[in-house]
Amino acid sequence: RSTSAGSSSSTARSAALIERARSVTPGGVNSPVRAFRAVGGTPRFIASAEGPWLTDVDGNRYVDLICSWGPMILGHRHPSVLSAVTEAAGKGFSFGTPSENEVALASEIVDRVEPLEQVRLVSSGTEATMSALRLARGATGRSKVVKFAGCYHGHVDALLASAGSGLATFALPDSAGVPDSSAGETIVLPYNDVAAVEAAFAEHGDEIACVITEASPGNMGVVPPEPGLTEALRRITRAHGALLISDEVMTGFRCSASGWYGLEGPYDGGAPDLFTFGKVMGGGFPAAAFGGRADLMGHLAPDGPVYQAGTLSGNPVATAAGLATLKGCTPEVYARLDTVAHSIADAAHTELSAAGVPHTIQWAGSMFSVFFREGAVRTYDDAKSQDTAAFSRFFNAMLDQGVHLPPSAYEAWFVSASHNDDAVEAVLQALPAAARAASE
Ligand code: PLP
Repeated sequence: RSTSAGSSSSTARSAALIERARSVTPGGVNSPVRAFRAVGGTPRFIASAEGPWLTDVDGNRYVDLICSWGPMILGHRHPSVLSAVTEAAGKGFSFGTPSENEVALASEIVDRVEPLEQVRLVSSGTEATMSALRLARGATGRSKVVKFAGCYHGHVDALLASAGSGLATFALPDSAGVPDSSAGETIVLPYNDVAAVEAAFAEHGDEIACVITEASPGNMGVVPPEPGLTEALRRITRAHGALLISDEVMTGFRCSASGWYGLEGPYDGGAPDLFTFGKVMGGGFPAAAFGGRADLMGHLAPDGPVYQAGTLSGNPVATAAGLATLKGCTPEVYARLDTVAHSIADAAHTELSAAGVPHTIQWAGSMFSVFFREGAVRTYDDAKSQDTAAFSRFFNAMLDQGVHLPPSAYEAWFVSASHNDDAVEAVLQALPAAARAASE
């Protein structure tokens, strides 16, 4: 039987694995934030997961507050998702032809998010935003793109400027290997600053293909749009013939049954032109999507001239997982997410306050993050003024007590509907010592 992690618990197998991994994989990981560079210590190699629990290769058990960075909204190995995946895999892994699950998943997404008429399925959030960008450029015949500092849209060349969590965690301003010809078409503006958007459009209005924004940013920590921001972006883009892309890869089907749009929309002045999705809609498998009005989506191949494709797009196992996950996202699931998130966030606030640790908790629906600084966080600069050393001490104290937070001060704490009272209680038990560690 596995044990809860404690400060004396062994991490010998994880330590040996990260050593081995470093010899065959850069940094030993396949996505940078997993490497624990920002927080120190040994990344835990997870052997299995069930509901809200992770078990590592040394047999330590953790309450999972990463939830695969968003997708595992129902918890790990949810029975209905597992049976859908098993059934689909039993019929074949990939056909390279159209299959019925693709139509079912696309219909489910279109039915949930009112402005959508069509979606195309892809395999990652990065692919979704990359393709949406190409479509926006193809449809407008323009090349410049506006993005906001602190918003992450995947590792798309043109969007890897001031891109939040991963880059912030490593204090990298931008990525090497992105040519000026890509990044030079990107205008990066401060978030929550309508005047900056007005000014950029006053200067470049007829060259801008689109504004892309996280529907409610979660990659600099949770920084919701101020009331009226989305309407202002809609008004300005429309006045200049540019498109508005709402990136719901993180918020989609998590903030509500129809994502952030379900909480904030419909908007005066109209909906965003394009939306991107990922994470929850893949249920832990590689599935993502972008979509919008049929006239706009009609620019895509094979109907139109904007090329976009994928060997594994609409994979039958991934679409089965995504569909079962979305079907499982009932009102009771959203109510449980809310309860779990508030129990944990309220306790974190109480314990950090008692330990005298400056902090701010911000929300987007039931998505929340804890900033280790005082005062509202409206922009990336605000988010970067956190005490990341205090976060590292807090993170490691939580991990030692069997709670696995995202190893970055710039991430939401993800919960699932499977976080039962035992899991929540384990988090609450760990918080006082972690808050004291943060204050030292
Ligand atoms: N867009 C947003 C808002 C995201 O949060 C992410 C991933 O964290 C992406 C895009 C990229 O998605 P993926 O990691 O699946 O490529």
